[in-house]
Amino acid sequence: MGHAGSSLTIVAQRIFDGNSMRGPGSVKISQGRIESITFGEAEAGASIQLPADAILAPGFIDIQVNGGGGVLLNDQPTEAGIQRIVAAHRKGGTTGCLPTLITDRTEVIERLAGVAQAGLKISGVLGFHLEGPALNGSRKGIHPQAEIRVPDWRDLAAIKRFGRCGRSIVTLAPECVPGSTIDELIDAGLRIAAGHSDATAAEIGQAVDRGVSGVTHLFNAMSPLNAREPGLVGAALGDDRLFAGIICDGIHVDRVGLRIAFRCKGRDRLMLVTDAMPLVGTNDRQFMLQGRQITLHEGRLTGADGTLAGAHLTMIEAVRNAVALLGISLVDALIMASRTPAAFLGLALELGRIAPGYRADLVAFNPNFEVVGTWIGGVGSMGEASEAPAGNSARKPNSDELYGTDHHDVADGVGTLPRDYASVPKEVPVLGPPGRRRSDR
Ligand SMILES: [Zn+2]
Repeated sequence: MGHAGSSLTIVAQRIFDGNSMRGPGSVKISQGRIESITFGEAEAGASIQLPADAILAPGFIDIQVNGGGGVLLNDQPTEAGIQRIVAAHRKGGTTGCLPTLITDRTEVIERLAGVAQAGLKISGVLGFHLEGPALNGSRKGIHPQAEIRVPDWRDLAAIKRFGRCGRSIVTLAPECVPGSTIDELIDAGLRIAAGHSDATAAEIGQAVDRGVSGVTHLFNAMSPLNAREPGLVGAALGDDRLFAGIICDGIHVDRVGLRIAFRCKGRDRLMLVTDAMPLVGTNDRQFMLQGRQITLHEGRLTGADGTLAGAHLTMIEAVRNAVALLGISLVDALIMASRTPAAFLGLALELGRIAPGYRADLVAFNPNFEVVGTWIGGVGSMGEASEAPAGNSARKPNSDELYGTDHHDVADGVGTLPRDYASVPKEVPVLGPPGRRRSDR
């Protein structure tokens, strides 16, 4: 599929360039970057002709991914572990991600810090996300209570090493750390997101004044919006300075909540995240999370007490769910999956658009929301959905088998779904990763 030093041209009938859906056209890539994008008649000698129904778009950026391919980052904070996670999510269209370490012992943070620079060289890694350990125990979710703590000097030293590692994020509860800690982390080069927090809206306002710029999995594990105390939810919805990640799996947030979030934040502040766990990219139904057994049932990952333990979700499914649950346009969903997280990470001039000079991180998918190819820095990997047409003798499952028979509402409507998200969305099933669908068939 070429390498970083080579050039290639991808021809697609439809191209989402980061602003609007256009096409047919050609994207010329050279030295890992977009050289040109042209519309109209396809250039002769295209290296890659996408299937007629495929859409080419900026690759997805997932800022919260705890695991995949059977690996939990906390268990394998190693280059090999990171590689496995990234590879699993690339099948779901993710071309840039922040492998995410949840609250753990200082030694584990130090281990990850020790491989972070090498990890950053892995294609598709943009930085790391440390979710914890400075969380509020009353909003701990699945994080281990025993390890939740105010970071000491040794924790801080380890965490600050990520400030020089790509675009890395720390999720913390602002009410649980001194303001000077927030200053110190931002000065070290980290982005700070408020999460697992019971803060008042006023406390969040002060934190945002200090430079906190994100909110981690909006609505989940945070102080809710009440009449006289808007909490972190209210602060997130009301403050345009804040970007917010949201888990669009139909389980973590009610669709009414999703719509409220979209109305308040809009596509330029709301980001689709997976918060994925090791089961993505596998057919397993159980994994161990820091000594506790987590079980997958009907798309829901829970511990023994029923606490949600991350999501069983890929980015292409998050995009599909955003269209289905919010009734928003595919364009808006794609922006929340790429351009907006790129902006949050300070990479708005580098990623999230198909335009000259941008890095050639791309995804191609078909109307069934099957990824047919991804490119990172112009280096391609064609997805499972493309294998049959390429001559693989294995029978390609038809879309009814993969998605059930009522998918056509969405499949036929890609790009033509109502732009007015207030209109009633069509009923479509919310999907987990392909592995689950196959085994449930
Ligand atoms: Zn969390």
